[in-house]
Amino acid sequence: NEHTILQPRHLLAEVLQIAKQTFPKSIEISLQIESSHLWTLSADANQLHQVLLNLCINARDAMPNGGELTIMAENIVLSDEYSKLHPNAQGGAYVAITVADTGTGIPAELLERIFEPFFTTKPIGKGTGLGLSTVLTIVNNHQGFVDVSSQVGKGSQFRFYLPAIEQLE
Ligand code: ADP
Ligand code: MG
Repeated sequence: NEHTILQPRHLLAEVLQIAKQTFPKSIEISLQIESSHLWTLSADANQLHQVLLNLCINARDAMPNGGELTIMAENIVLSDEYSKLHPNAQGGAYVAITVADTGTGIPAELLERIFEPFFTTKPIGKGTGLGLSTVLTIVNNHQGFVDVSSQVGKGSQFRFYLPAIEQLE
């Protein structure tokens, strides 16, 4: 993989551009960037595109009757304490990117299976079940980690954290 120094804002803008062209009008897309200056990442831009697109496509599929897709990005400093909660997390600077939808949600008993390769609830030909396993592999390769929360009937939030190069404002 090809790591370069990249600004997450650009990445988000590019993916949103694609999403806006390919999503139905019934899905409202919004971008929330919590800081005037997101920290930069050392990352493979193509791979991160894929992560974001896979999450956006899953969000779209979860909202067949329309809804809201929200993408959020924020700078986060994790304390060392946090590493006890997430095996991959370490204390330090991260950029956290959240893809949230107002779709079907994911039943609790399926939550632990969705990252398995080939796990899908979609009809044959619609889903390969590889989207989230790819997301996990790429994020892990970047020394990051992923968090999911979901409520059936309300929607889902996929948040991934990537180690960042912390800069003073
Ligand atoms: P695929 O999209 O091909 O089914 P994924 O690995 O991307 O494979 O997702 C696996 C499964 O996780 C999906 O089939 C679906 O059941 C569930 N899932 C993933 N994202 C969402 C979401 N945003 N809302 C509801 N269910 C989801
Ligand atoms: Mg998918």
